Amino acid sequence: MKVKAYAASKAAGKLSPFEYELPALESEQVDIKVHYCGICHSDLSMLNNEWGMTEYPFVPGHEIIGQVVAVGNEVKNLRVNDFVGLGWNSASCMHCDQCMEGSHHLCTSIEGTIVRRHGGFADYVRCHWSWAISLPQGIDIQKAGPLLCGGITVFNPIILAGVKPTDKVGVIGIGGLGHMALKFLNKWGCEVVAFSSNPDKKEQILAMGATKVINSRDPKELESIAGSLSFILNTTNVKLDWNSYLLTLAPKGRLHTVGAVLEPMEIPAFSLIMGEKSVAGSPLGSPALTKTMLEFCVRHNIYPMVEEFPLDQVNEAMAHLEAGKARYRIVLKV
Ligand code: NAP
Ligand code: ZN
Repeated sequence: MKVKAYAASKAAGKLSPFEYELPALESEQVDIKVHYCGICHSDLSMLNNEWGMTEYPFVPGHEIIGQVVAVGNEVKNLRVNDFVGLGWNSASCMHCDQCMEGSHHLCTSIEGTIVRRHGGFADYVRCHWSWAISLPQGIDIQKAGPLLCGGITVFNPIILAGVKPTDKVGVIGIGGLGHMALKFLNKWGCEVVAFSSNPDKKEQILAMGATKVINSRDPKELESIAGSLSFILNTTNVKLDWNSYLLTLAPKGRLHTVGAVLEPMEIPAFSLIMGEKSVAGSPLGSPALTKTMLEFCVRHNIYPMVEEFPLDQVNEAMAHLEAGKARYRIVLKV
């Protein structure tokens, strides 16, 4: 099958039309006709080869909503025409200890949708059946794409950290991931403090359910809520004053990063020791939890705020994200 995609031929290069041929479908694979694809900051980081693992020509796109067009002969859970979502992961081994206990996202031989294969800025994409997540009835497919990467990435830590509805929590960086985290934590029942570096976002952030907005780059402002939060989720990829954030945690609190901070995080031991605090991180979530999250989104009408661009304006869309102008997630219509 021929796939029409947009690819970059070098690091930070422009995306231009690119065709490639998919080999014969393997028995456990499915092909998906892409309808929408969100743009995650990780697409930009991969395009620019910030993590040193990008291969060119590079086709980004890992927040995919589409319909199954072909299934391998061992695939039992999906049929042609089913609506599915596909995120950052596209295959796991299905036999390691992590896969066997349902943590497929921690599989030691996990394969990424845009790592050594071509992603969803295209009319078709292929994956293993386990990562083509069936969409629940009634979901808004125009807005659902970003839930498949950004959404599950911020939903999983809420479960991992055992966040309770009575908790007072914080989210650092109100971009694509951060604004979805705010919405989840608000519906979870928590009081949510937003840490943002952009004062222009304040009104929208409060409308999304935050009770307070604090300048993420101002340690003095952080001091005003010292010792009050039980959980902080970092979604930025930049160096911040991490010790000031540890001081905003209550005893037993957790600073959890999903943002791919490139510089090592400086963590003074005593800020952890006094108060039994912890620092943690996580990648996305399992297929089962992704399904649960999608059902939670339908139940509570939780969707990202999206800006739609047609696929042929993908370079404009990437520039809009890079300039920090996305409000709050861009979705490409294919
Ligand atoms: P995004 O939409 O660009 O949002 C990032 C936000 O970080 C910005 O909106 C901004 O929020 C804040 N920020 C940016 N530069 C800053 C600076 N210099 N100082 C302070 N704050 C700054 O990105 P995203 O798509 O949400 O992705 C966020 C991060 O998560 C990326 O590193 C991405 O690669 C990573 N990620 C990780 C996983 C995983 O599995 N762990 C999955 C998906 C994405 P304010 O304007 O509110 O300050
Ligand atoms: Zn992503």
